Amino acid sequence: MSNDYYATLGVRRDASQEEIKKAYRRLARELHPDVNPDPETQERFKEINQAYEVLSDAGKRRMYDMGADPFGGGGAGAGAGGFGAGFPFSDIMDAFFGSAGAARGPRSRARRGRNATIRVELDLAEAAFGTTREIVVDTAVVCEVCQGSGAAAGTHPDTCDMCHGRGEVSQVTRSFLGQVMTSRPCPQCGGYGSVIRHPCMECSGEGRVRTRRTIKVRIPAGVEDGTHIQLAGEGEVGPGGGPPGDLFLEIVERAHQIFERRGDDLHCTVAIPMTAAALGTSLTIETLDGAEEIDIRPGTQAGQVIPLYGKGVQRLNETGRGDLLIHVNVETPSKLDPQQEELLRELAKLRGEERAAGKFSPGQQGFFSRLRDAFNGR
Ligand SMILES: [Zn+2]
Ligand SMILES: [Zn+2]
Repeated sequence: MSNDYYATLGVRRDASQEEIKKAYRRLARELHPDVNPDPETQERFKEINQAYEVLSDAGKRRMYDMGADPFGGGGAGAGAGGFGAGFPFSDIMDAFFGSAGAARGPRSRARRGRNATIRVELDLAEAAFGTTREIVVDTAVVCEVCQGSGAAAGTHPDTCDMCHGRGEVSQVTRSFLGQVMTSRPCPQCGGYGSVIRHPCMECSGEGRVRTRRTIKVRIPAGVEDGTHIQLAGEGEVGPGGGPPGDLFLEIVERAHQIFERRGDDLHCTVAIPMTAAALGTSLTIETLDGAEEIDIRPGTQAGQVIPLYGKGVQRLNETGRGDLLIHVNVETPSKLDPQQEELLRELAKLRGEERAAGKFSPGQQGFFSRLRDAFNGR
């Protein structure tokens, strides 16, 4: 047999249930991880729990006495997990030690402040290249009069006389498992262990006051609508002079008149007359970097996309920029004067297109929509 559970608990083989319980309690108090956290002791602690689980259960003890180990000969590893028989480990420990097993002191008045979020509106160029903004924050800061303690000048919080500074009050009751100790936060001091009898006039005992301040923040290039920028420690100070929370800037990007942003790419559409599409021309396009001359080649089709590589938005936290994609729209003239109509008919005749039947392009539809989708980043 791998473990002698009787030896582990230090009891005779004919020990009564009461003796086993007593022996276990004595050892558990001694070896409890809260008392004695070193790994060797914890291993011993697991062993005594395992031994106790077997020997405290009449059925399991009988099996063990007959030579069968209910843990299957497994070492002490079963530990707390071994309490499968409707007896959660923590319940047992609570029964013996009360929640005082996890010795808690009075809680601190100081708590971390809340996070705050501020929306920042940017235009496309600011989002693309980054910018610096002065932001006005309404926030709580440490009260200068009491330095966050909440007590009036020249006074200090008094030790609570109900819990004597412990922050909690305990009650001992008897149950079938023995004495059960329960603790709850002290109702007089709210668990702080101290009472502020003379609160600071400036902050009414809160330890912090509301104020408005201006901070300068650098917004990196490449942010977009919905980007959150975390400014650690720029949120409000907590109660009792606790550490501040974080401030988040939520970017709201204003729509641009010409460019539509998709990720780091920008898209725009230019319309050119039919004749320019056929004969070719050059256009001046306004980009984020200023005016740019682009070439419309003769025979340009409606829907064609002209890319300007690297003229999109700066990639956030990366090098390189997205592209500017110019979608060409060809405008068919809708109002023709007699002379223009005559010329166009002449042209149609020359090209043999007087009775153009139109052409189906089987299979091409899919190709073009794929191409379009690729450009549109879908
Ligand atoms: Zn104060
Ligand atoms: Zn108290």
